[in-house]
Amino acid sequence: MLTENIHEALRKIPSITELLNSDALDPYRDQIEEGYLTTLAREVQEQVRLEVRSGNADASDTAIERLVQRVHLLVRSQSIRVINGTGIIVHTNLGRSPVSQDTASAMSSAATNYLALEIDPVTGRRGGRGQEVADLLRLLTGCEDALIVNNNAAAVTLTLSALAAGREVIVSRGEAVEIGGGFRIPDVLRQSGAHLIEVGTTNRTYTRDYEQAIDEDTAAFMKVHASNFAILGFTSQPDVEELAELAHSRGLLMIEDAGSGCLVDPRKYGLGAEPLLQDSIAAGVDVVTASGDKLFGGPQAGLILGRREVIERIRRHPLARAVRVDKTVQAGVAATLRHYLRGDYEEQVPIWWSMARSVDWLEARISRWRAATGDAVSDIITTKAAVGGGALPGQTLPSRAMTIELAGVSPDEVARQLRTGEPSVFPRIIDDRVAIDARTVLPDQDADLVSAIRRIVAQYQFTS
Ligand SMILES: *Cc1c(COP(=O)(O)O)cnc(C)c1O
Repeated sequence: MLTENIHEALRKIPSITELLNSDALDPYRDQIEEGYLTTLAREVQEQVRLEVRSGNADASDTAIERLVQRVHLLVRSQSIRVINGTGIIVHTNLGRSPVSQDTASAMSSAATNYLALEIDPVTGRRGGRGQEVADLLRLLTGCEDALIVNNNAAAVTLTLSALAAGREVIVSRGEAVEIGGGFRIPDVLRQSGAHLIEVGTTNRTYTRDYEQAIDEDTAAFMKVHASNFAILGFTSQPDVEELAELAHSRGLLMIEDAGSGCLVDPRKYGLGAEPLLQDSIAAGVDVVTASGDKLFGGPQAGLILGRREVIERIRRHPLARAVRVDKTVQAGVAATLRHYLRGDYEEQVPIWWSMARSVDWLEARISRWRAATGDAVSDIITTKAAVGGGALPGQTLPSRAMTIELAGVSPDEVARQLRTGEPSVFPRIIDDRVAIDARTVLPDQDADLVSAIRRIVAQYQFTS
């Protein structure tokens, strides 16, 4: 038996016509066709009816609001743009590496135009897709040939499928790991049809461990870069050059998953060493794979570099077609490579721009923010920024942040207000204070950041 007040609430649910005629929908009328709006109105009405029947009599008052909210989320033109104040440069949850302006325009131009993607403009004949990227990578890393795919997970899966299906791949126990996001080396090997042979121990593995595991089914040695973790203390892993030499002397292939796609030595910025693609090639690997959107600083992609005949085998594998990159990514990877070719990455590629900022520069930047937002609510503190994205785990860059403290408002609440504003600002909380790290705020975001902070300060000073 429904109670009287539920009957009353059911009668109060707006009709479809009432919902569709609501003034609150006016700002959206040119962004969604009437038929789709009607479908959403029916869904909202049905949902409200169910809630009222299950006892929530107040739900009938929320129908219009809910419809507007549904429409709003569907029509907004972009995903939420964020100012990264976390101090984590390659932030996986915030989209990893932002790309350079040149890269973004190359991608946009490739998307909105026809382009000579698989045709040679001189002869008018069909030409190789990906030639431009391969030529740039050959010059920059010394590899003989290269291929790009959707991401590094695809690059590793394709490489192993093409080179080691049905055969054994020898991996150090300390490297048969989960990289993050469910990418587990043992699973990837199994998926590509290869058999994993683990050698050594978690902390120490020697070249002789690989040597002793070789048998007639062995296809390759594989080295996996330790991303997202570091094994410290009593450790030993053989270097790639030594392993490659042993592999070749026994007729085997040397495969490396380098992880971050780094072309610039991070030691330049006081960080530790990261495997550089050109060093892997120089060490004699047959093939090395990496991500395009970590320390390469480009769009999401998987880079596969190596010896000509090995890359050709990979290119001809049926899976290569299934993980082929889109033309916009191809244009984006090429545009990013040109920054390394010209040597202007420190000014143009956002992640390297962030890493290259001096502490003095960061302090001056924060002084400008404070002057524009009010010294009374803010302070400058010493922080540590991280590279992120699994690269250089545990290592940090000296940095500076601006804290914001508003009397009577908890740091969690200030952080929530910053995250949900427009533009959204993601701070971190250090010692119970909201802090915005100046290293990861991009060069053209100062004015937006200042106005976001001003708005929050004004809101609380007004209401308190
Ligand atoms: C990040 C990473 C991957 C996965 O790369 P995606 O581009 O995210 O697919 C694989 N291996 C290593 C060593 C990594 O660091």
